[in-house]
Amino acid sequence: MSVIRDLFPFFNSSTEVYLDTAATSQRLAASLEAMNEYYETFNANVHRGSYPSAIKSSNKFERARDAVGEFIGAQSSSELIFTSGATDALNLVANGLDIGDLQGRVILVCESEHHANLLPWQSFASTHNLKLRKLPLGKQGVFHEHELKQALAMLTDEVAILAIAHVSNVLGNIYPVEQLCNKAAAVNALSIIDGTQAAAHIPIDVSAINCDFYCLSGHKMYAGTGIGALYGKMKRLEKLKPSKFGGEMITHVTWEKHELQKPPTKFEAGTPNIAGALSLACAVKFIKQNFSQIYADEQTIIQYLLEQLKPLIDDNKIVLLGNIGAGHSNTISLLSFTIPNMHANDVAAALATQNIALRAGHHCAMPLMQSLKIDGCVRLSIGCYTTKNDIDAFKRALFVLFESGTESEIETEGFSSIKQTLTMSAAPSTIETALKNAPDWNNKHRLLLLHSKQLSMLHASEQIDSHEVAGCEAQVWIALIGEKLKANSNSKVVRGILAIIIEKVNALPSHEVAQFDINNYLASLGLSHYFSQGRRDGIQQIILRINALFTSSTLS
Ligand code: PMP
Repeated sequence: MSVIRDLFPFFNSSTEVYLDTAATSQRLAASLEAMNEYYETFNANVHRGSYPSAIKSSNKFERARDAVGEFIGAQSSSELIFTSGATDALNLVANGLDIGDLQGRVILVCESEHHANLLPWQSFASTHNLKLRKLPLGKQGVFHEHELKQALAMLTDEVAILAIAHVSNVLGNIYPVEQLCNKAAAVNALSIIDGTQAAAHIPIDVSAINCDFYCLSGHKMYAGTGIGALYGKMKRLEKLKPSKFGGEMITHVTWEKHELQKPPTKFEAGTPNIAGALSLACAVKFIKQNFSQIYADEQTIIQYLLEQLKPLIDDNKIVLLGNIGAGHSNTISLLSFTIPNMHANDVAAALATQNIALRAGHHCAMPLMQSLKIDGCVRLSIGCYTTKNDIDAFKRALFVLFESGTESEIETEGFSSIKQTLTMSAAPSTIETALKNAPDWNNKHRLLLLHSKQLSMLHASEQIDSHEVAGCEAQVWIALIGEKLKANSNSKVVRGILAIIIEKVNALPSHEVAQFDINNYLASLGLSHYFSQGRRDGIQQIILRINALFTSSTLS
């Protein structure tokens, strides 16, 4: 395994324990070198020039197409279109389908789909008058024999399109796409498989799967960002309309009209991501050559992880989602879980202070979160480079978290005296000074957790829908009770942030609240820099709500 890890330069300098491969993988040295070699030694546009570098870049680009096509078992490279990623590929299909006899029929989309394989179909269904129907999962996101039977029964001749991932990016479930696509073909429905989370982990053979379309994404499989691929059966690609128009995709253009090239060229208007395609070719060659080792290593790691977490799982201290939680083996090396009474984002933020890089939230699968009745989960996802040491570090961090609630109490220099001062005085100036002086996110994070206890809390009976602030990662309620703001959240970090904002706002005369720049204030405390985009968006919604509450109270 360490030999494989050595092929990823990221680990030469990073000290992070990287467990977020499902969000984006680390890059293979050979993929990076292929990009550099192109830019540095034969940089020229493809398919155009007749000079040596142009011929070389065109040849390499087409050989990259061959490599990716072969990797997924396409019958011909012409069935392989380079895209900018999986989102681009799925939109290309949805925007180009011939409506023909599809109208009035059903689009069946799996309940756990990433928004990239749901939103294009929502839009398609509403534009062309189709019915969007959910292919349901079992309890806790399981897909097993019962769910398969149900899915096969739902695939009737009413269905025009089946859209499902090969592997769920949240649950890790491997869906039985071969059985589903064969049934889809039998009822004359098109099958679209999102292989984004499959390509780096399990074998793919689109001919055996018998799908109409299959997509993958370079950055999830050790290649660069901004490159992906769409496979389509030739008879489907011939009928699919391009949604991008421009150079290269035509055989002839007059002022009035144009004639399209054959697939794949008719879908690749403009200059493609040449370097990206070369990096993807290296990545697929690497996966193919090392597949048995990659697969065995990932299985070893996931089994090791499950063994390490067993006491916590048995005690229901962590609740696993998907097939893996139900003890089924048809999953990839990905573990999503919730911790009762801790917000998923608080868990990820606390783990981040111990150098563990993983993702929490809805993972671009909000409808799945709604079905599971959670507002997020923590996801640990591994790659071919993940080691048992990474898992040990994760386990240690998780145990620290359990020992201290979400308050990570490992003492760092100076923190105990700050804590003592804060515990004695809840004055805004004390927390302001402490936050300003806290040297890093670890210390600021702990101060926020500590200060969350000072929040002027909204009573549980006041946590009603009209007080809830939409658009936050965690649940947040804010209300003006008397003349004072009160709030609550199911995230402790957010309660800390709310406490800081609300103390400040409550100290102002109401007519001055609108002039108070909350963003600037948070920045002056050195906090904003550490906020993710999701958290920034949530804080923006909180600010809008506070301003609206004061505007309506000063008007009335
Ligand atoms: N589908 C799935 C299952 C994914 O996990 C992702 C990325 N999170 C996407 C689609 C979108 O991929 P891309 O970033 O290549 O657009």
